[in-house]
Amino acid sequence: CGIVGYVGRTMDGTALDVVMEGLRRLEYRGYDSAGVALVTEDGVTTEKRAGKLENLRSTLETHPPAASRTGIGHTRWATHGGPTDGNAHPHRGGDGDRLALIHNGIIENFHSLKKELLADGVEFLSETDTEVAAKLVGREYDRLGDLTEAMRAVVGRLEGAFTLLAVHADSPGVVVGARRNSPLVVGLGDDATYLGSDVAAFIGHTRRALELGQDQIVTITPEGCSVIGFDGTPAEGTAYEVTWDAAA
Ligand code: GLU
Repeated sequence: CGIVGYVGRTMDGTALDVVMEGLRRLEYRGYDSAGVALVTEDGVTTEKRAGKLENLRSTLETHPPAASRTGIGHTRWATHGGPTDGNAHPHRGGDGDRLALIHNGIIENFHSLKKELLADGVEFLSETDTEVAAKLVGREYDRLGDLTEAMRAVVGRLEGAFTLLAVHADSPGVVVGARRNSPLVVGLGDDATYLGSDVAAFIGHTRRALELGQDQIVTITPEGCSVIGFDGTPAEGTAYEVTWDAAA
């Protein structure tokens, strides 16, 4: 339901703070669960909890993750699978579960894709449509070694409405997003780059925004972003300045 992504230049605790603040600013949209993934020196750490953001926050306080400059966060409004800890996002995929992915929307053809993956021996931990995308992008990353290319190899196979964000343990400093029939906006800061399903996610940090077009993939690094179409051709988002004032 709500999506936040962040990459900063410095390796400190900022990623978690920025992602949690973004999720709080997206709370008004309603949700039933929340989760985060951070790329740390130990790999990808995820925490996810059904219920209020407060549940996630107290879990993170008891088990504080290592420092990170790369993170994604999600508030879920369940469509496939009940609102449980296990169905909350992020979902993991790839060799050693080194990829984490979050999703807004519905993947209409997840059933046939899941059947195909199950036949290949892939094991699922949730009832969500989302986990199918996590397993597919994870597998493509293992084959291609590049997160943007892995995302591109998968999005063409997905039907329905989706915004996807993914991080990989072997790609610190990178978040890749994709959108079809579901919103995704980039926030351009001086030392950091942001993603949000809504500018509210990063309005406390920057007002320079870039709205993605339909069927586009964006790769963010602390220096900025690059955009391609699902067909791989270079593309551009629409740049604008957010002029309204953020509520606290
Ligand atoms: N369809 C996904 C799920 O049920 C994502 C729902 C959402 O947009 O939050 O987990």
